[in-house]
Amino acid sequence: MSVNRREFLKIVSMSTILSLGGVVSISSLKNHVEASQISRNAKALTAKRWAMVIDMSKFTSEEDYRKCIDACHREHNVPHVTDNPKHEIKWMWTDTYEHAFPGNEDKYLSEKIKHMPFLLLCNHCENPPCVRVCPTQATFKRKSDGIVMMDMHRCIGCRFCMAGCPYGARSFNYKDPRPYLDESRENPEFPTRMKGVVEKCTLCYERLAHGLLPACVEAAKEVAAKKGITPGLIFGDLEDPNSEVRRVLNERFTVRRKPELGTGPSVYYII
Ligand code: SF4
Ligand code: SF4
Repeated sequence: MSVNRREFLKIVSMSTILSLGGVVSISSLKNHVEASQISRNAKALTAKRWAMVIDMSKFTSEEDYRKCIDACHREHNVPHVTDNPKHEIKWMWTDTYEHAFPGNEDKYLSEKIKHMPFLLLCNHCENPPCVRVCPTQATFKRKSDGIVMMDMHRCIGCRFCMAGCPYGARSFNYKDPRPYLDESRENPEFPTRMKGVVEKCTLCYERLAHGLLPACVEAAKEVAAKKGITPGLIFGDLEDPNSEVRRVLNERFTVRRKPELGTGPSVYYII
């Protein structure tokens, strides 16, 4: 269910008034609160620090990437804003090696890698600068599992987090995003946003809470199943030595984006 910030504030102040009068109005708030504070069910997937490994060799066509991006954007009602590139909203996207790994440029880099599209998303950094600069704690790191979250209702649109993120992982709604949603593909289970707030990948916290893998990871599984190969997105607990991500990190050489900044990205790449 969607709610805009003004409606939300109206509900909050109304509830306060009713509470003061001895009547607690929780029912009208329930769906809205759950949108940002989703409750877990018994099947919830848990970790001490969620992480992802992206194996670039498993993505061989534009369509492979598109399926993951599409799964994410459809799941989270990400608007398709095309009239101004600066207004584009992206939770998962692709970019060149040069832009993704600017510190690793090399004039002898293979042509293949130079032109390969790299799948990018928020890195859910161990030390997230976006969190440090947010004045309202609209963005915060979950202590339980390291996910860097967004509470759209607290966002005042100052965009300090966008300036703080060195990975371009955040998008700002310059316009009302709702007219840019395809109604036939809208997900009624996930809230839509409003003009003036920042958004980004939240590692599918709402799916994890219900025992489901992130939408992009599921899509990568489907892509791989069709080719009879192992999936290109591997998701798991970085703190668990027996997890799939740890097994992969143990066996393969991986790189992270801009590690020199000390942000500690939780997304690793096998190139
Ligand atoms: S990638 Fe950017 S938005 Fe994501 S946690 Fe790191 S600094 Fe924050
Ligand atoms: S983890 Fe979820 S929110 Fe993040 S890019 Fe993948 S599908 Fe999108």
